[in-house]
Amino acid sequence: MKIVLTNDDGPHGPGLSELRRALTGLGEVTVVCPAQERSGVGHAITYLAPLRVGTVRLADGTEARTLSGTPADCVKFALLELLDSPPELVVSGPNVGINAGADLFYSGTVAAALEGGLYGLRSVAFSTNPGNADRIESVAQQALRVLRLLPADGCVFNVNIPLLGEEEPGVRFTRQSPAPPGETYTRQQDPRGRPHYWLGSSANGDPPAPDTDVAAVAAGCISITPLRPDLTDMVALERLGRDALGRPGGLRA
Ligand code: MN
Repeated sequence: MKIVLTNDDGPHGPGLSELRRALTGLGEVTVVCPAQERSGVGHAITYLAPLRVGTVRLADGTEARTLSGTPADCVKFALLELLDSPPELVVSGPNVGINAGADLFYSGTVAAALEGGLYGLRSVAFSTNPGNADRIESVAQQALRVLRLLPADGCVFNVNIPLLGEEEPGVRFTRQSPAPPGETYTRQQDPRGRPHYWLGSSANGDPPAPDTDVAAVAAGCISITPLRPDLTDMVALERLGRDALGRPGGLRA
């Protein structure tokens, strides 16, 4: 099996080499990741500047390709330039930081998996509680456990791995939390008295709905959310179609 592995934390991001090594048990792994950390860039791609390709050694001494672009660029470039046939699996991560709820729109890690999904490829994004940074090998093993649970057909999965303890965490299939982003700006002054702002997260007051990714992680479970790279609101589309049919002559083009 051919596997493309990328992330949004760059070649020295925690866990990239551990996840690469775990994936070698499943197939032949090509690592191509952003040359620098590109967290929070969402599904951005690079087309107003050239892309540079580099080579880097990961923490375990193996070689990886780097790209002067985004996580989505890395998957696109691997599919269109590096590989001579499509991979059976695209893996992104492990991101150090949970990607749940509204995060899915900002996350470079999730966007890389969705990029694979745009090409119809089975793609999985892994994110983890930052408290697991010192047991990242266990995170890679949990990622492997999840990959063995998932169906073999083409779909995008967003996986969050909670803070790991002694016991193996449970697994829940979840939906993306629809709660609004829990964020706040911290206002500070620079030495010249001018204000600047840092965006950070803040606790959202309402408890998360129990069937969501946010709730699963809060309960200490691995959350698996199937995603589609199709933003169509099917309920609204059906309503629009019904309303149009109810009018004399329907809607005209
Ligand atoms: Mn990141």
